[in-house]
Amino acid sequence: MLRRFMPHILVVVALLTVGLSGSYELLGHALIDLRFRLDGRPASGEIAVVTIDPRSIEAIGAWPWHRTTHARLLDQLQRAGVHDVAFDVDFSAPSVPAADQAFANALQSANGSVVLPAFKQLSVAGKETVIHVNRPLREFEQLAWSALVNIEVARDGRVRSYAFGEYCDAGSGKTFLQSMGAFLAGSDAVKDSSFLIDYGIDPSSLPKVSYVDVLRGDETALAQLRNKRVIVGATAIELGDYYSVPNGRVLPGVVLQTLAAESIIQHRTLVTTSTAATVAGLLLIVVLMLASWPHLSAARRALLIAMISIGVEVAALVLHDRFALVLDTSLLQIALVAYLIATALDEIDFRGLLRNVAESRFERIAMSIGDGLVCTDQDKRITVWNPGAVAIFGYGEDEIIGRPFASLLDDGADADALFPQSEAALPATLLPGGATMEFDGRRKDGEVFPAEASFSAWQGPDGLQYGVIVRDISLRKREAERIRYLAEHDTLTTLINRHTLQSELASMIARADAASDRVVLLVIGLDAFQHINDMLGHAYGDSVLRAAADRLRAEIGSEGRVARLSGDEFAVAIPCSAIGGTVSELAEHISGLFDAPLETGARRQRVRISLGVAVHPDAGQTADELLSNAHLALCRTKTDRRGSHLVFEPTIRQELEQRLTLEEELALAVERQEFELFYQPQVELLSGQVIGAEALIRWRHPTRGLVPPNDFIPVVNSSPLSEAVATWVMTTACRQARDWQLAGHEIRVGVNLAPSQVQSGDLAAFVAKLLDATGLTPGLLELEVTEDILLHDEARVLQTFNRLQALGVSLVFDDFGTGYASLSYLKKFPLDGLKIDRSFVFDVLTQSDDAAIVGSTVSLSKQLGLSVIAEGIENQATAEFLLRLGCEHGQGYHFGKPMPAAEFAQRFLRVDETRQAGAA
Ligand code: C2E
Ligand code: MG
Ligand code: MG
Repeated sequence: MLRRFMPHILVVVALLTVGLSGSYELLGHALIDLRFRLDGRPASGEIAVVTIDPRSIEAIGAWPWHRTTHARLLDQLQRAGVHDVAFDVDFSAPSVPAADQAFANALQSANGSVVLPAFKQLSVAGKETVIHVNRPLREFEQLAWSALVNIEVARDGRVRSYAFGEYCDAGSGKTFLQSMGAFLAGSDAVKDSSFLIDYGIDPSSLPKVSYVDVLRGDETALAQLRNKRVIVGATAIELGDYYSVPNGRVLPGVVLQTLAAESIIQHRTLVTTSTAATVAGLLLIVVLMLASWPHLSAARRALLIAMISIGVEVAALVLHDRFALVLDTSLLQIALVAYLIATALDEIDFRGLLRNVAESRFERIAMSIGDGLVCTDQDKRITVWNPGAVAIFGYGEDEIIGRPFASLLDDGADADALFPQSEAALPATLLPGGATMEFDGRRKDGEVFPAEASFSAWQGPDGLQYGVIVRDISLRKREAERIRYLAEHDTLTTLINRHTLQSELASMIARADAASDRVVLLVIGLDAFQHINDMLGHAYGDSVLRAAADRLRAEIGSEGRVARLSGDEFAVAIPCSAIGGTVSELAEHISGLFDAPLETGARRQRVRISLGVAVHPDAGQTADELLSNAHLALCRTKTDRRGSHLVFEPTIRQELEQRLTLEEELALAVERQEFELFYQPQVELLSGQVIGAEALIRWRHPTRGLVPPNDFIPVVNSSPLSEAVATWVMTTACRQARDWQLAGHEIRVGVNLAPSQVQSGDLAAFVAKLLDATGLTPGLLELEVTEDILLHDEARVLQTFNRLQALGVSLVFDDFGTGYASLSYLKKFPLDGLKIDRSFVFDVLTQSDDAAIVGSTVSLSKQLGLSVIAEGIENQATAEFLLRLGCEHGQGYHFGKPMPAAEFAQRFLRVDETRQAGAA
């Protein structure tokens, strides 16, 4: 609605602006002036001008002239037979009396046909400005007429209008004073109003005669004046009586007066039309435009406007010429120009321009983005195809434009499902960014790939349009796949990792629960893998792990899962229904897989494995519990039965818990000094003489009483308490031996070494310091080592042993025969003797095997120069039998159980003690 009236509103606003500012006047004057040029006419010739021109001034002398000159002129004019004479020369001030008299005389003889100028003047009387009419001298006024010669100058400095006359103050009220032009024209109008001088009247057509010629009585000059009205006035520039008039001309006052008179004579007193006519004209134009605007093209409208414009001017010219009416057409023309501008603005398609800018911007962006940009029309036929789309799909622009979007999709994909289906679904896609979808795209070469696209839609000129930004996400998918793989798998063996096993185990448990099945979890540890790593390097260790993984993977079918849990630990999870045997059979089968050495490229590596087994639901409801319990079982296998398997039972956990309690108690025991050393005698079998004592630890528990070492030493040895306890044992035993030595008993004391003493710290230095501190003879200290001590870092053990022996301390191999490689140790380490384990001794009388072992051990020791002592002799018969086998020393309940030092001293060192007491 507003848009419809916009041009007209604009025009009205423009008119108001111009109208109020008054700037239209300039145009109005220009148009009127143009009419003067177009509608020119000659002067009537009834009025002649006698010019006070430069020639006259030159001939007569400097202005002002003597009034006798004017008197002579008047006489000459009378002679020439003129009708009236008007002087545009000031006669208001008296001059030389004789001259004034001469002029008065001339006036007298002219007999009332002369008119002299009067003019209004502003004068200041006191504080007030008053208008004063300057009249001719009284003596002249009585003999002649007076007429006003004032000329109105318009705002633009031009003279346009002229008054018929004016009411002026006379002695008795106001009298009407005619203007000189009206007087000359013989007008009898008595009205205080003005008219516009018709400058169409050509001033050059006015009859003009030089003053001096008239004065001299030049007959041709005088002839020109006959029967005419005459006006005398200055035309010489130096007299300064000049005025600006329209069309850029400058005219002398006298000519202006004459033109005014001519206007009256020729009935060309121009009158301006009323404002109402202008307003009516404007209204007419607006109505015409309102009516025609919607029906006319811009060109026709412009033509119409031009025609109206010309029409208006022609009408104005006609009014001017025929009716002496001046129509100010400036506002009408301004209105028409405003309409012309409005038409032009209407024609310029600003929206189109903006659209073009936007489109070229879109095009540039579309062509430069790396993603594919595809636009379609409402039928989903492709309309825009950028280089990114070419790169993704392989189609050139000319091949694909116009084809359906569906041709970019894999056969299975539904194009319609991707695009917003209904109007209701549109809002989401109309949002910036649109809706993002994933689909399978198909390239020109047929390759199917994962794509991601955001769909947007907008209302275009030809219906709904769609924009699709397509991205090839195959790389991203591959990367994501790879990251997921890395997160779920062990990179070395490519088996699943602990995390993945946990989640898969959970689902396996869920499935088993649903099917009333059970799940077996085996945690497999490679025995002594650290050894392989240390001895053969990590790269080799890696290849062993890979080979182990391959072997497990090859064995476990698709129903089970094989995982690598940590360094040397693997796990197998499998539903019971899939193993086709008992759990133990499965464990043994897995163990058996490693009977054959692993192929590790360069060499064949033999490894042993230990297994911890846990079965859901008995050994755990959740994957976490199952894993934890299988682990526990493995730990137990490793400590108790390396190389075999153990199925988790609740007792294992109980034991563990007991062990933890024990550890806490032991820590307290160390603090409270609850340990004691008992001593068991070692005797020479032949003589029965006590030659030594083995120090054996006891724990005097506040509630449990005396606790034997087997109940707590393994725990101590595998705990951080080991060091402290071992140090205490060694120190106490050495002090005791030294005490006995000081008491005169050269009793050799045997101390059991703890693994920690050999593995860390400097045992030899410690012993040296202790011997030094106690003063004990080194030969009275015997250190007992077991195979598990010798198992570790051979070089270190060897060095320690050498240094101990160098001190004079002897080293014996305890529990000989129970380990795996007892014999080889005899060769490898510098040992002084061995203690035959009590398990061979107990049944030596009845078991021929044991007798054979004991016998050969004794003879072997003798050959190697080692001392031999048999443990566990519980009766005289055994002692005698061993003696017969060549064993010279023994230890056992038969000779004495382990006992407190005081008891030991009392029972075995009594003689000496008496002696000692005596000595004391
Ligand atoms: P071991 O070093 O072989 O000590 C000999 C064990 O055999 C002692 O058991 C002793 O009481 C037992 N024994 C000796 N003769 C007989 C016999 O005729 N019949 C029977 N049935 N047993 C006999 P104990 O004192 O219970 O010590 C057990 C093990 O604890 C020791 O075996 C040793 O390995 C360890 N042990 C004891 N005290 C210490 C200690 O202070 N430090 C360390 N590291 N280990 C210790
Ligand atoms: Mg021992
Ligand atoms: Mg022993």
